[in-house]
Amino acid sequence: MGFDFITGKMLVDKFRDQFLEKHYLSHKIDDVIKIEKQNERFVITTQSKQTFYSKAVIIATGMKKRKLGIKGEERLQRKGIFYKSVQDISLFDWKDVVVIGGGNSAIQIANDLLSNDCNVTIVTQGRLIADKKDVEKISQHKNMHIIEEHDVTEILGEDKVEGVSIRPEQDSDKHPETIHCQGVFIQVGFLPNTEFCRDLVVLNSKGEIKINADCSTSLEGIFACGDVSDAYGKRIIIASGEGAKVVLRTLQFLRELKEA
Ligand SMILES: Cc1cc2nc3c(=O)[nH]c(=O)nc-3n(C[C@H](O)[C@H](O)[C@H](O)COP(=O)(O)OP(=O)(O)OC[C@H]3O[C@@H](n4cnc5c(N)ncnc54)[C@H](O)[C@@H]3O)c2cc1C
Repeated sequence: MGFDFITGKMLVDKFRDQFLEKHYLSHKIDDVIKIEKQNERFVITTQSKQTFYSKAVIIATGMKKRKLGIKGEERLQRKGIFYKSVQDISLFDWKDVVVIGGGNSAIQIANDLLSNDCNVTIVTQGRLIADKKDVEKISQHKNMHIIEEHDVTEILGEDKVEGVSIRPEQDSDKHPETIHCQGVFIQVGFLPNTEFCRDLVVLNSKGEIKINADCSTSLEGIFACGDVSDAYGKRIIIASGEGAKVVLRTLQFLRELKEA
């Protein structure tokens, strides 16, 4: 769809109208927690304990931000920990911020924070793997500190973030050092949303669902597309193209079942 100007609400209303109402698609907002194969059909169970039965399933659950799984991370959620950039950093009264991660997203966030006069410390395991040019650019900034080859072992604070503990990767016996800060941005990659189908289909070493060129998986009747699959390129246009492909293939599969 293309518009010269449209508000977010109007765009969503048009999507809803075109995709759900005009095409009579049934749409439910719920989390799938389990898919099982029973005889010739699949049983899909959701968080709200609803059950759906089908002859084919398309999995298009995308990815989620990876968490660190360290002490303090869960307790201080929404109290100074972020997993993506903050649109308007001036809303926060922060001076010192730690960015955890060494890829392009971490550098991008560090750059945004520097533009907002924050003192930024990047802590990463191994060396920075972001584009060299961007690393060189931010390294020259007077408020930028880069700590490589360190683990973050804990996020500190009672009711809000007050700092992080770090320790050299190669020296796990060393007493952790504290970096004081008011905000922590965690940028340590993504995990495919496959908790509910890990025992059903074959995944690759990154946890992505292995698919064939026609979006079929290791189990007949289960198809997958988009970021949750091992298709190359995590981009909207690629996921959309794969989405079209998976629907064509699934329709063909259902037709073949009917004819058999
Ligand atoms: C910060 C960020 C910026 C990006 N910027 C760009 C960009 O500029 N250009 C670009 O091309 N791409 C960009 N991408 C990538 C792009 O968003 C993805 O490639 C695309 O959205 C993948 O589409 P998808 O349908 O596979 O997954 P998603 O869009 O992630 O959709 C997955 C859906 O499945 C739902 N879901 C997950 N688990 C379950 C479950 N158990 N049960 C039911 N539903 C579930 C989720 O709630 C979500 O609605 C960006 C991604 C991120 C994170």
